[in-house]
Amino acid sequence: MKLILLGAPGAGKGTQAEIICEKLSIPTISTGNIIREAMKNGTEMGLKAKAAVEAGQLVSDDVVIGIIKERLAKDDCNNGFILDGFPRTIPQAEALDSLGVEIDCVLDIDVKDEAIAARLGGRRVCPACGASYHLEYKKPAKDGICNLCGAELIQRKDDAPETVLERLAIYHEQTEPLKNYYSKTGKLKSVPGQEEVADTTKLVFEALGI
Ligand SMILES: [Zn+2]
Repeated sequence: MKLILLGAPGAGKGTQAEIICEKLSIPTISTGNIIREAMKNGTEMGLKAKAAVEAGQLVSDDVVIGIIKERLAKDDCNNGFILDGFPRTIPQAEALDSLGVEIDCVLDIDVKDEAIAARLGGRRVCPACGASYHLEYKKPAKDGICNLCGAELIQRKDDAPETVLERLAIYHEQTEPLKNYYSKTGKLKSVPGQEEVADTTKLVFEALGI
């Protein structure tokens, strides 16, 4: 199955990607990871990405799509793949189409902004050992202190309220139009994200017929 996962930051698509990946034995391809991998391996596109990063520029769509093309050509993608975090914009979706990749399904995990703000806003991480917590769902035994190593918990910059609002605004402006783009192809399936991961997974599996 060739699958694209859509959803706002914090909607839980990374978690669902991992679960689907395990269930179907197909790789999850997240752009951040494959760009880092291509740079490390020094592929043609990886070197271009590295040049952009070193010059303090964003990696261009052309290079990103080139890296995706390199990645999709690997054997482990023969039975399908999950694209997580790409495409993010209409031009990227058009570029993906131009590669001639036949996507089977675009799965959108839909979560309201307020729910996302509460989820991300409550996250705390331990800067020392990397453990993660949530003020509501996964409280540390002692307020603000890591259970594992006793370090003081922090809120990541990405999870600060003003950053979350900014990321959601970018999502609505640039990525959400993809729902319309893919609904025209009849490939869009939308699933309402639930509070419990397992409940969302159930709906995801139903939507995918797996
Ligand atoms: Zn810790």
